[in-house]
Amino acid sequence: SMRDPKMEEIFKVAKDDNRDFLYEHEAKALFALYDMPVTQIHVSPNEDDAVEAANRIGYPIVLKIVSPQILHKSDAGGVIVGVEDDEGIREGFRTIVKNAKAYKADAEITGVLVQEMAPKGTEIIVGSTTDPTFGPTLMFGLGGIFVEILKDVSFRVAPITERDAAEMIEEIKAVKILDGARGMPACHKPTLAEILYKTSKMLMENPEIKELDMNPILAYPDSARIVDARIIM
Ligand code: ADP
Ligand code: MG
Repeated sequence: SMRDPKMEEIFKVAKDDNRDFLYEHEAKALFALYDMPVTQIHVSPNEDDAVEAANRIGYPIVLKIVSPQILHKSDAGGVIVGVEDDEGIREGFRTIVKNAKAYKADAEITGVLVQEMAPKGTEIIVGSTTDPTFGPTLMFGLGGIFVEILKDVSFRVAPITERDAAEMIEEIKAVKILDGARGMPACHKPTLAEILYKTSKMLMENPEIKELDMNPILAYPDSARIVDARIIM
């Protein structure tokens, strides 16, 4: 295939590991190959390495569990945000590993993901599922109650054009929030449209992807950052 060997490698590592999903850092590595805005990340096998990574990335830091048995990290007490110093990294590392073991006694711990903490922003969700008839689809919505309670989302079948991507954003009922209604900070729609367009391209080029979910993307007046990502193969 014509695919970038770096992409092949990401899926191969997961397959060799008998996983049917990509870890957050693997999914983000794939997104980065499509020039999508992800947080800076590093997987640490031990506390010393985590402290070194935190200092290289810069505080505040977010720590997350990396385990083949844990897909939803916060359910397992596996996410700590706003870590401010080296001692916090050491403590957080131990807490996350302890929580993971309490959640699933036989959970293997691959490591702890050390990442840049993104500033507060508007929560956006981009998702994909594979329709048995139409193939990969794309979903766009605002995070939190908008998607969970109001089901305020838009859909397309992939591949989409750049124009489709822009339209998906305009179609949600709460679009005014993205424009900065009621004193909310506006969101940079072109960046969000680019994420949708590039995700579509990624779905077409990587047929291993059965489900994808960027939850949340944090959106800002001039940019956006994908802070969590999951890919099911
Ligand atoms: P889960 O696997 O439980 O969905 P997430 O990675 O989404 O875990 O983390 C849970 C929450 O922590 C997110 O919804 C977000 O609010 C916050 N969060 C996670 N990563 C970051 C980050 N890098 N910067 C800022 N906030 C983050
Ligand atoms: Mg999440």
